[in-house]
Amino acid sequence: MIRSLDEFRQASIKKLGKISDDPLREYMELFSAATGLSKAYALTNFFEVNSKRFEDLRLLEKYISQRCAGIPIPYITGIEGFWKKEFRVTTDTLIPRPETELLVELILSENRRENLKVLDLGTGAGVIGISIAEEMPSWNILATDISLLALREAKINSLGLKNINFVQCFWLNSIRANFDIIVSNPPYICNDDPHLENLRHEPRLALEGGGDGLDPAREIIKKAKKNLMEKGRLYLEHGYDQKDNVLQILRQNDFFTIRTYEDFAGHDRVIRAQS
Ligand code: GLN
Repeated sequence: MIRSLDEFRQASIKKLGKISDDPLREYMELFSAATGLSKAYALTNFFEVNSKRFEDLRLLEKYISQRCAGIPIPYITGIEGFWKKEFRVTTDTLIPRPETELLVELILSENRRENLKVLDLGTGAGVIGISIAEEMPSWNILATDISLLALREAKINSLGLKNINFVQCFWLNSIRANFDIIVSNPPYICNDDPHLENLRHEPRLALEGGGDGLDPAREIIKKAKKNLMEKGRLYLEHGYDQKDNVLQILRQNDFFTIRTYEDFAGHDRVIRAQS
């Protein structure tokens, strides 16, 4: 029962405080999603609580209960920002992470030619491939995923773009064409990592990478040469403690021109190998 706005707000922020370090920001985000008003209104009373707004606040109440049950905000609001725009996300796809923007940034800054062909493996909500496709209209992107449900979301996110296509497949198994760039943020968490408990709302398929977390990376690296053009580049995201292992797998598969990169938090995060 919503009595006064002040009381409702205070009680909501207090509830969110039990599960969040930043309850005010979370309240503002959920408020904005439920009411369609900008976040700036969340902490004010500068709007009339008419019957429509009353419904919005009921919805906000529901969002807050969902959040208190541990559901991540993007799965409640259905959107998450990545690179330069907002993407639709559902529980069929991983929530895009800010560190993954490093892949996009590196690919755009290190590859300046026109008409390149890019393969985005395990695209999920499509954020990597779509961000690149938007930045580089002359490039052609093929994005894959094993999950048809994820591909459906990625296709919706790509509406209006002509230079990206989607195909269902298992890593490089049925890919015949050659590419200038292959990019992937594959699942890389070890199957028994206790950290997975915190990620329980996200699809396991997009997170678990086998006993050491590197099965998908191994599968991609093993086959990447056959689909890379001469001097083509492979960009992979990996876990903060996996750099040396990924380096070793690359060398075992005859990749010798390799560079590694840290994310904004100073963790080893991306590796680039040239064929
Ligand atoms: N970066 C994600 C996490 O640690 C994992 C993403 C992945 O497996 N590709 O929460």
